[in-house]
Amino acid sequence: AFITFEGGEGAGKSLQVRRLAEWLRARGMDVLATREPGGCPASEAVRGLLVDGTHTWSPAGEAFLHCAARAEHVRTAIAPALAAGTWVVSDRFADSTVAYQGYGHALDTSFLRQASGHATGGTGPHLTLVLDVPPDVGLTRTRARGEENPYETLPMAFHERVRAGFLEIAAAEPDRCRVIDARADAETVHRHVVAAVNDRFGL
Ligand code: C5P
Repeated sequence: AFITFEGGEGAGKSLQVRRLAEWLRARGMDVLATREPGGCPASEAVRGLLVDGTHTWSPAGEAFLHCAARAEHVRTAIAPALAAGTWVVSDRFADSTVAYQGYGHALDTSFLRQASGHATGGTGPHLTLVLDVPPDVGLTRTRARGEENPYETLPMAFHERVRAGFLEIAAAEPDRCRVIDARADAETVHRHVVAAVNDRFGL
């Protein structure tokens, strides 16, 4: 099975990926915990281009880099894992491209979905957990962690559009997506994650 976590800055996705991977492993599952942009050597190199702050990418340039990274991530890591019966849990996937480059930067969302679809060859999550947090709360968390990330300097209105985008994506695909209130503490969020996974997969 393929599970993705989505959400804005400081929503707590990476911690919840680790917690869910541990939970699944404790139940005997093989788990690949991965992330985007990244998840394999080529795509981690692309991540470096995106986040090292040496270049401000155009929205289109950014979108194509994310899709290029995703193509390699799926081909070399995600698809082989799924074929072997491994559970894949990813910190971000295609919905982030639609939310950030589409809703955030106003690129055409149907084009982005198409481009991303070419990158994945149709491999996509069975369950997506949208960790929803108001941008000011999320950005306060990332600043408290001392993270240097060029995306966090974008205006608050950008982060509001990204948040609204994730919520629209989730509302349009209620069978695949669950929205979890990520203002709660990590333990509470984890309990909601586990409940959603149990519900979707009948574990
Ligand atoms: O998830 P993480 O915070 O590690 O992602 C790295 C950065 O890439 C984030 O700050 C996020 O805003 C940005 N990003 C983006 N477009 C995407 C995916 C991630 O701008 N499609």
